[in-house]
Amino acid sequence: MKINRRQYLKQLAGCAALPFIGSVPTGFLSAGAKADQSAEPGAYHYLGRTSGYRDWAIVPPGLSIKSIETFRREPFALVRITASDGRQGWGQIAPYYARLSVDMLHGLVARTVMGLDISEIDLINDDVINASMKFPWSFVCRALAGVDTALWDLYGQITEKPVSELLGGLVRPLPAYGSSMRRDITPQDEAARMTRLRDELGVKAFKIRLGTPTGQNKDAAPGRSEAIIPAVRKAVGPDIKLFADANSCYTPDVAIPLGRRLEDWGFSAFEEPCPYWELEWTQEVQRALKIDIQGGEQCNDMAQWRRMMNMRAVDIVQPDICYVGGLTRAWRVAKMAEEIGLGIKPHAANVSLVTVFTMHMVAALPKGGEVEFSIEDDSPITQLARAMFDPVLKIEGGMAVMPEGPGWGVRIDTKWLESAEHKTSSV
Ligand SMILES: [Mg+2]
Repeated sequence: MKINRRQYLKQLAGCAALPFIGSVPTGFLSAGAKADQSAEPGAYHYLGRTSGYRDWAIVPPGLSIKSIETFRREPFALVRITASDGRQGWGQIAPYYARLSVDMLHGLVARTVMGLDISEIDLINDDVINASMKFPWSFVCRALAGVDTALWDLYGQITEKPVSELLGGLVRPLPAYGSSMRRDITPQDEAARMTRLRDELGVKAFKIRLGTPTGQNKDAAPGRSEAIIPAVRKAVGPDIKLFADANSCYTPDVAIPLGRRLEDWGFSAFEEPCPYWELEWTQEVQRALKIDIQGGEQCNDMAQWRRMMNMRAVDIVQPDICYVGGLTRAWRVAKMAEEIGLGIKPHAANVSLVTVFTMHMVAALPKGGEVEFSIEDDSPITQLARAMFDPVLKIEGGMAVMPEGPGWGVRIDTKWLESAEHKTSSV
């Protein structure tokens, strides 16, 4: 029986039902040794659909994608999808160099998904990955995130439910951590502002920055990383949870002693200690230290996620919903992590819609960690993100307040849209 490509992909998703996938045809083997090395039946998971993952069917089939619009104000770009019945959903592509992602969206992603049935979100995601096989991942996934997150909002509009509910969770206050984005701040000033946020907003967890991004062991200022660890702990006291992010700075020989210092001062997690692509280095650090190693924010390749998890390079995975390609693919990463028993703490480094997406996902994860919440209130990126939609995101009593209502629960600001560059792809 001949099957078309979509049926083939569907069969792969439920590959346990296919006896020929996951086992070596024994007729080709001269001895049993090689057969012993073959994977368990059903072990080949297409694009991250582990055995615990089920393809989504949120709305019935029948509506198709009629148009995809982008609204760009650097470093952000919003996406609006209109379905064939006129209903609309809002999403966002990944921030930074949004122009490149917008070009990718209209140049490739939109051509691939235009006219497809909106109910087939897993196939829509996989079609985009397959269509970009010669130039994979980064900007493809950044653009795909806009389509995927707009479709989830559309599902919420159609079903009149928040996305978190569609995922099996509930809109509720979520534990949050105050995330510093700064390295140009002295240990004393960082300690002082975290103490203030602890007192003013009741924030119960914070993340500091060590080293410099991909810095090859270079510190932002001489002795800063060693000094900030005790400075912040002494200032905020023993009851506050603390994390530290090195953004790919260190080789293991430098990361391990610094990690021991974090342990000595009661920090809970060490993020991206080594260049993120060096999984073996990160694994070496993970094995040497007791503190949890977390990472993966840049990772958008499902096979690389699997390798990272299987080798235990990290204890906690940090998919970024916009970098990884959207909620559907971030959810696959989360299911993979759950299956292996790893923690999940998604990356969300600004208060644009990515933090809203993250809240809806974390609210539906049994082991979802604290929501990352930027504390850079005065930065231009925070100001532009805050002008993008209502309600403005905030922390109350140490908890992130989730927007309520269907879909993402936000209203996009018309003034923000009017000043944005507008592009349309349509059927
Ligand atoms: Mg990070």
